[in-house]
Amino acid sequence: MIVLVINAGSSSVKFTCFDMAAGRKVLASGLIERIGIDGTSMKYTNHRGEVIKGEVPVKDAKDAVKVISERLVDPKAGVLKSLSEVKAIGHRVVHGGESITAPVIVNDQVKATIRECFAIAPLHNPPNLAGIEACEAVFPGVANAAVFDTAFHATMPPHAFLYGIPYDLYTEHKIRRYGFHGTSHAYVSRQAAELLGKKPADIKVIVCHLGNGGSISAVDRGKCVDTSMGLTPLEGLIMGTRSGDMDPAIVWNIMRIKGLDGPGVDNFLNKKSGLLGLAGINSSDLRDIEAGHQAGNKQCTQAIETYAYRVKKYIGSYIAALGGVDVVAFTAGVGENSASTRALVLKGLQGLGFKLDSAKNDVRSAEPRLVSTPDSPVKIAVIPTDEEQEIAGQTFDLVNKK
Ligand code: ADP
Repeated sequence: MIVLVINAGSSSVKFTCFDMAAGRKVLASGLIERIGIDGTSMKYTNHRGEVIKGEVPVKDAKDAVKVISERLVDPKAGVLKSLSEVKAIGHRVVHGGESITAPVIVNDQVKATIRECFAIAPLHNPPNLAGIEACEAVFPGVANAAVFDTAFHATMPPHAFLYGIPYDLYTEHKIRRYGFHGTSHAYVSRQAAELLGKKPADIKVIVCHLGNGGSISAVDRGKCVDTSMGLTPLEGLIMGTRSGDMDPAIVWNIMRIKGLDGPGVDNFLNKKSGLLGLAGINSSDLRDIEAGHQAGNKQCTQAIETYAYRVKKYIGSYIAALGGVDVVAFTAGVGENSASTRALVLKGLQGLGFKLDSAKNDVRSAEPRLVSTPDSPVKIAVIPTDEEQEIAGQTFDLVNKK
């Protein structure tokens, strides 16, 4: 059975085509970027290693899905004989609000809920819905599943999702913590259990998803009980360009100092802050900041230390929230690749049961692995995340249940 996974953003559409019967083999993947801007281009790779790159005449999500569909059946680089082989399409949707707590087959009601969340996810939900509608047009009759970034966090109890502000802001306006990256947190927490030879229901996991965006979650026996991102992805860890947690009064102070209005300060804290703002070397990429640190740039050193300290503080608070932890799992670009960041985050935590094996930590690998010593009371894992595979799996399960 062929499942197509679509991740439609504001200016890009990413796709992965899976053959589920062949062990979820990736037949083809790629992306179309700069949609709606000059120089729209596509990168397409198939399982034979053939790569096609170039400009494409795409002005919206529907054009993008049409071009992707044409590539999939292209006589040379295609991987399908006919588009009728595609039995289901899984979509990443960022915000499902409070009412959607699991992956769902898209119908009018689901689309209405995605639309209701436009106000709290203005950058993500509109293009996500456009991606769904594009697939409905290009693949008529094929089931579309929506897999929500917020869904895995729906099990958080009120004491974790409420903010200390008047209650009617929650009841009337749904201002609360939702959390994001849920597909990754779900996948990695399950993989962590598998790595320990246990069932998710038997262990407590802290997942550190450290990418360009970053979030951390506390997972108690398979259920998320807290996570660092909030109403929007701005809260929590210091990220590539996002500030993460700070005194809310800083918002109006920045407005005054920089002469910004509401949307202006929102943009400032989402796009100009975090590692980019702290390190001051015009890059949000931790590799560049690590290179700056190696070259003796003190501001880069401080940025890295501040970034790691925030992760450490969250780990400590989630050990308290969970009443102990069996395994801490690192994932995403930084979590999977930066051994020095993992070491810095865990430095000084021996008293909490973390014994990092430095030699194992320094080995690079694409496999899920333990980097703690065999006698470490808390296990430390590095687990490559795979949101596309998780979306494909959930889509497959939904369609087969139906
Ligand atoms: P996204 O949130 O965009 O999906 P990723 O999970 O792909 O992000 O993470 C991208 C980030 O990972 C890069 O910006 C970079 O900072 C970081 N990264 C990737 N490889 C390394 C590495 N070897 N060392 C340090 N940081 C890395």
